[in-house]
Amino acid sequence: MKHVILGAGPAGVIAAETIRKHAPADEIVIVGDEPEAPYSRMAIPYLLMGRVGEPGTYLRQDPQHYEKLRIGLRRARAKELDTDKRTVALDDGSQLGFDTLLIATGSSPIRPPIRGIDLPGVHPCWTLEDARAIMRLAGKGARVLQMGAGFIGCIIMEALAERGVQLTVVEMGDRMVPRMMGPTAGGMIRDWCEAKGVTVHTGTRVEAIETEAPLRVRLSNGSHVAADLVISATGVKPAIGFLENSGVTCLLGVLTDEHMQTNVAGIYAAGDCAEAFDVATGKTIVSAIQPNAADQAHVAALNMVGRRARLKGVTQINVLDTLGLISTSFGDWQGVPGGDHVELTDRVANRHLSLQFKGDRMVGCNSVGWTEHVGVMRGLVEGEVRLGPWKDKLLADPTQLMEAYLARAQAQDAHAHLPRR
Ligand SMILES: Cc1cc2nc3c(=O)[nH]c(=O)nc-3n(C[C@H](O)[C@H](O)[C@H](O)COP(=O)(O)OP(=O)(O)OC[C@H]3O[C@@H](n4cnc5c(N)ncnc54)[C@H](O)[C@@H]3O)c2cc1C
Repeated sequence: MKHVILGAGPAGVIAAETIRKHAPADEIVIVGDEPEAPYSRMAIPYLLMGRVGEPGTYLRQDPQHYEKLRIGLRRARAKELDTDKRTVALDDGSQLGFDTLLIATGSSPIRPPIRGIDLPGVHPCWTLEDARAIMRLAGKGARVLQMGAGFIGCIIMEALAERGVQLTVVEMGDRMVPRMMGPTAGGMIRDWCEAKGVTVHTGTRVEAIETEAPLRVRLSNGSHVAADLVISATGVKPAIGFLENSGVTCLLGVLTDEHMQTNVAGIYAAGDCAEAFDVATGKTIVSAIQPNAADQAHVAALNMVGRRARLKGVTQINVLDTLGLISTSFGDWQGVPGGDHVELTDRVANRHLSLQFKGDRMVGCNSVGWTEHVGVMRGLVEGEVRLGPWKDKLLADPTQLMEAYLARAQAQDAHAHLPRR
């Protein structure tokens, strides 16, 4: 059997290793379009902070790792997929045949349609190449303007702050991390960042980058900001353009079933590019975080070698450290129609808790500064724990999370192990 994997990120590498474990004699080829050894984008902030060098971002430290596992690494870009002939056309002019195929091409940054976005000194922060450019320009005291304060934007911000730059953040949404946090939590994160010396403009767009060296950035609130570096962190989209007209069904990402298989037998997808079926909610979701890439790659690879495996669910969890303030977002943090909600905020102590319920289950939550209960919040949401009378107790006092968890999650686990009559 020949297994071809498109994309040499965490999803591609984990899938290749899983295939090798279960199919010692099969041929495995990873096709990746970046020049470096397979690396983790998650490690880029640590590179920017100077905590690791480039080799520290590599997914596997042994340079012979892939050779030892007989995993072929091919540097090329997939241009077209022919599902009838079962071949992939590469940008070096060759065709690669396969028995099974994994699409693990990740996502790529969205380029906002802004005049001046191509000027030197304007960069996304997505690849090692981007990181090198950023490190050249973001020396101590440099003026940096970052567009976007989403999950990844906040992670980058943390790394930039540690480099000692003068930072201005411009977010189009009415608050920071708008797709992860409600208004109170987003507002608290903003206040925290401003207290740490970051200038934050929310509800504001970058309208144009008018000149270079220094870059002169025009904002929708009428002001101008001078910058040595502009970072564009305005979101990502699945890198699946090459699948157009291939017959593989794509919505926002490549649509997969619970086995990570696409609508074409033998063709799978995993990671940031996949729109995976979440058994828990019955919905398909693109959730571009690394734990999902790893889980999905594992499930896809097992199916590619004929072992039936199902994805348990798509994790919808984000834990964010914004300049030392820890915030979390789990499940349906915005709530569900007809659901119940309770919120508790202590602005002085920088603590906030927002819990969402459907029936007697907690379906989502947001927290700021509430580190001691992160595991419990995850357990209640992911475990779909029936709270019974504890729901009303939590509505009256949301700080009773641990007590509710101990009383109900453990009872549920105990029942799960009782023999059925
Ligand atoms: C700065 C930063 C910080 C992050 N921090 C976190 C974090 O704290 N926690 C977290 O969970 N996630 C984090 N992420 C997100 C995480 O990195 C991604 O979820 C993860 O990389 C997804 O893995 P993947 O293998 O699906 O895709 P990728 O890592 O994007 O790998 C896909 C690979 O495929 C290549 N490719 C694309 N198109 C083609 C093609 N046509 N042919 C061949 N190759 C192709 C790409 O160039 C890339 O090398 C962060 C991301 C960034 C940028």
